[in-house]
Amino acid sequence: MSGQQARKVMRGAGEPTVKVSLGGGVIVGDGAFTVIAGPCALENADQVDKSAAAVKNAGAHALRGGAFKPRTSPYSFQGLGEMGLKLMAEQGKKHRLPIVSEVMDVAQLELMMDYVDVLQIGARNMHNFSLLREVAKTHRPVVLKRGFGATLEEWLLAAEYILDGGNDQVILCERGIRSFDNTLRNTLDLAGMAWVKERSRLPVIVDPSHSTGVRSLVVPMALAAAAAGADGIMVEVHPTPEIALCDGPQALTPAMFGQLMKTLPALLAATGRELAHPEALAAVGGAR
Ligand code: PEP
Ligand code: MN
Repeated sequence: MSGQQARKVMRGAGEPTVKVSLGGGVIVGDGAFTVIAGPCALENADQVDKSAAAVKNAGAHALRGGAFKPRTSPYSFQGLGEMGLKLMAEQGKKHRLPIVSEVMDVAQLELMMDYVDVLQIGARNMHNFSLLREVAKTHRPVVLKRGFGATLEEWLLAAEYILDGGNDQVILCERGIRSFDNTLRNTLDLAGMAWVKERSRLPVIVDPSHSTGVRSLVVPMALAAAAAGADGIMVEVHPTPEIALCDGPQALTPAMFGQLMKTLPALLAATGRELAHPEALAAVGGAR
């Protein structure tokens, strides 16, 4: 890649990784491994409560969940909208977990600012340059997913839009790309993640859920991401995946997620790293 245009996202010699603060003392990019977990979609009060409690009890650092869902079919569940954001913000405050949720459209941004700590830009929106520019203006931390047809250079240039807009609080998220092989939902480009990690100043995390689409592969790929040097993961966990309204087949059960969190420290230790230890000082959950 030329790298000539992606100036602000590229790492200068000896330059450290940008530390992205999610709120509540949770930092991504300081060398420790951060875990963002929660359901694909926020569905109802009970599901949000159980999801938040499950991920917090297992030691997650931040809660994810979609209120606005970019679904392939217009007839699929589209998300709870503001009600979902309210439910998640309540749980974020209760459990002292920063909350991460996807903004699909510039028109949703003002509403989301009242509730979420971290704005997620989904794979389908990585090329939505007007959204990238508006998100930059908020100065809220951003998780920028790689588009499923995007080259590494295009992904970095999408991040460049946000940095160029004055917001360097950007976390890159590898979530799998489309290849000739459609056996799995996507193809996890771990080498691409590691390549970007070497060259960019931005922290890079991996989404082992959308990159596989298969529950049994999520824990192995989460561990592989940790071994390959990712700054963290964003993983889908559902209290009852069999009745999930979205992405049930790739959701970890709370028990599987608990086991992953128990396995990670030893694996990270093998490469001289550890799980993040957030100091839960400030109240979080949209309380800015
Ligand atoms: C998600 O995180 O729920 C999601 C829709 O992811 P992606 O944009 O990577 O498909
Ligand atoms: Mn999902």
